[in-house]
Amino acid sequence: MNGKVWLVGAGPGDAELLTIKGRRLLEQADVVVYDRLIGPGVLECASPEAELIDVGKSGGRHPVPQREIEKILIEKAREGKRVVRLKGGDPFVFGRGGEEMEALAHEGIPCEPVPGVTSATAVPAFAGIPVTHRDYASSLHIVTAHKRKDAPIDYDVLARLEGTLVFLMGASEVREICRSLVEAGMDKNTPAAVVERGTTARQRRVTGDLSDLADRAAQLEKGVRSPAVLVVGRVAALAEALDWRMCLPLSGGRVLVSSVSRGKKGGCLTTLLRSRGAEVLEVFSSRTEALDVPLPSLDGYGWLVFTSAEGVEFFFQRLKADRRDIREIGFAKIAAVGSATKSAIESRGLRVDLVPPVYNGAALGEALLHECRFGGYPRLLLLRGEHGAPDLPRILKDGALDFDEVSLYRTVPVAIDSRSKDLDAWDVDAAAFTSASSVRNFAALYPNARVRAVCIGEQTEKAAREMGYETSVAKKATLEDLADAVERAIMDILGSGGCPRSKSAEEGGTIDARRNGDAPGGA
Ligand code: SAH
Repeated sequence: MNGKVWLVGAGPGDAELLTIKGRRLLEQADVVVYDRLIGPGVLECASPEAELIDVGKSGGRHPVPQREIEKILIEKAREGKRVVRLKGGDPFVFGRGGEEMEALAHEGIPCEPVPGVTSATAVPAFAGIPVTHRDYASSLHIVTAHKRKDAPIDYDVLARLEGTLVFLMGASEVREICRSLVEAGMDKNTPAAVVERGTTARQRRVTGDLSDLADRAAQLEKGVRSPAVLVVGRVAALAEALDWRMCLPLSGGRVLVSSVSRGKKGGCLTTLLRSRGAEVLEVFSSRTEALDVPLPSLDGYGWLVFTSAEGVEFFFQRLKADRRDIREIGFAKIAAVGSATKSAIESRGLRVDLVPPVYNGAALGEALLHECRFGGYPRLLLLRGEHGAPDLPRILKDGALDFDEVSLYRTVPVAIDSRSKDLDAWDVDAAAFTSASSVRNFAALYPNARVRAVCIGEQTEKAAREMGYETSVAKKATLEDLADAVERAIMDILGSGGCPRSKSAEEGGTIDARRNGDAPGGA
């Protein structure tokens, strides 16, 4: 039976500009065939089991030829797979989506396009340029600057259009396009702008008019590079006044988040950092697996102590597998480290007797100590994951409590973005860590990485220092404080940037980029 192919637009770079439908299809895909301009963070929506095929040009390699791409799509669909063909921007805006759909139709393979946010409108928007405006432009024309002998660009027609012109694929043609438009009769004072790597942390924008834009753009370190859009028309003059993006505190910052498990701590932190303007790459998520260790008889314990919701799940799995059940615990009490763990226990129909005021191992240890002193020093059973934080057992030991510990499961990191393997190319400004284990997992996956580590607390910082990273710590162990610490780190590296804007150029036009050019080793 044939599978199906979805031509999904991934948006212009910012991971959050992927559509909801696009994300759902990515999550469900067996195979993802993707291009070069897919933003970091988009691919990580794919399931860890999905096969990822890179057909774009990256790291000096040539892109896979179009025929070859079509063959891959046909082949994978014939195997009955759900295939997502992921393209930058919108699949039908100069994305060769039409050709691929024709090739699939020819083979009788079902195919659906899923429109995406095109760079033609989104990249100007991220540079403060609305592509239409009641007072300045009532039409929008998206033009490819890519030259084809059989279809040269008709500048005479373009010069007569009153609306906004947006040129794609023209990074190296800015001078020629501006000159040709003036030669064809367009006013040389027509405002124009180039926006490079729009919507990403490395976005750079240059504004001017048709007569001087190319010279101004030449001031950019290494000149204008692909991908870039060229906007010509009166709306381009609004960029200065409407530049909303440089006002975000983390705009221009690239932050790596090594999330311990997807959708949990890392996920929230990612959202928090993105909302402050950072570009975020989540480098791994994790998978938990049961450990095959015997569970002791439970009737001799006065307390069962859980430190994670996963621990609760694995505990019940284990009982079931051993053909035992919860009645064994008799009147033993139950402690949970925090609210998520408590909910997991309560969902099993059990009441939780103790949750510490602060959700960490040390506070749990102190609270247990207090309870047990007045409760005749019962024995405790700690039900945790492997390599749990040392605070809890240490405090119990210091308090002379009698306890056993069972490691029910372990956490294994899983890389979630294939390109994150090449961290150097991604050129991060800072990495945020929410636990010592995430530092260790990160270091195990990327032994050569040297990052500036922004840590949630002291244990995490200690682990990061042991790896030789430059470190800083959040004021308090909350995600907001961690995000504040990331802001300070970015400020340190990129300068204050933001508002008031960091600009370099004379009257009439500006270069606007928090970082003009790349750090060494940039992508
Ligand atoms: N289908 C895509 C366009 C593909 S053609 C879309 O709808 O956006 C590739 C061109 O798109 C690039 O040469 C560049 O002109 C533009 N482009 C794509 N992403 C961009 C970005 N982040 N910043 C600036 N231009 C971009």
